[in-house]
Amino acid sequence: MTARILDGNGIAAALRATLREQVLVRTAAGARPPGLAVILVGNDPASEIYVRHKRTDCEEVGFHSEVQHLSANVSQEDLEQRILSLNDDPAIDGILVQLPLPDHLDAARIIDRIDPAKDVDGVHPFNIGRLALRRPTLRSCTPKGVMQLLEHTGVPLRGLDATVIGASNHVGRPMGLELLLAGCTVTTAHKFSRDTRAAVIGADIVVSAVGRPGLVPGDWIKPGAIVIDVGITRSERGKLSGDVRFEEAVQRAAWITPVPGGVGPMTRVAMLQNTLQAADARLATGAGRP
Ligand code: NAD
Repeated sequence: MTARILDGNGIAAALRATLREQVLVRTAAGARPPGLAVILVGNDPASEIYVRHKRTDCEEVGFHSEVQHLSANVSQEDLEQRILSLNDDPAIDGILVQLPLPDHLDAARIIDRIDPAKDVDGVHPFNIGRLALRRPTLRSCTPKGVMQLLEHTGVPLRGLDATVIGASNHVGRPMGLELLLAGCTVTTAHKFSRDTRAAVIGADIVVSAVGRPGLVPGDWIKPGAIVIDVGITRSERGKLSGDVRFEEAVQRAAWITPVPGGVGPMTRVAMLQNTLQAADARLATGAGRP
């Protein structure tokens, strides 16, 4: 068997075209375009690239976007104050703090400050709690993007055995909650798991989100499984690798994501979808009028 490739670039481009249409309908009806504010602290090169992508994505779909690029020395109080101001800004529907933050900042406390209705990264405790209670509102971007890839396969998910490798707050944990919500039997493996292989070999769906190239060899993959590789590691030469040994796994899986070009573009489009969703929700309360 050779797996079918889940082309995140192509699927995300189609979703962006839909978003662009939705924004045109919205503005034609007299509403302002959705607005996203991104806060970038310091000069981490990878974070700068991610923020640039967010800006170009917003331009493509017709959103208003603004970036606050702050010094690496910004204080906790100053950063929290900026978030509180954005919470009150009527032109802003989504607030995103680019992570990681410098060590002197308490990222959890900063995320807590974001108005949950503007938390378009879907990482505020309120939004994770809603997902846990089967009432999702703004959903974490990477798991939301992965669920749309799974939907693209056309495979009914209810009852399938799904294993998530990795248990971080913004990827692994909400990923497990999404799969549970879809009716899967979910196993989560993490760095303290004694036998990650045993958790993977029987799984119909494998989502790996660790950041360790080659962690998942092809012979762990159940024939016919769906394999989603969230991991991205950049080598010293700049080559990007996933967690899954693609050349081996592609021989056994039914569907598989490439790295790059699989989950990454879906994470980006999920953030845009969340921003439009937040904007529409605010419009319904009268807050989105020009
Ligand atoms: P993280 O470091 O916060 O979490 C990694 C997780 O992996 C932890 O829960 C840890 O317990 C687990 N882990 C470590 N070693 C393990 C092992 N041997 N077996 C099983 N589990 C193990 O990382 P993160 O922020 O969740 O990101 C994970 C990966 O996904 C990274 O490569 C990151 O770059 C990538 N990522 C990609 C996207 C995307 O859009 N494609 C988005 C977010 C993160």
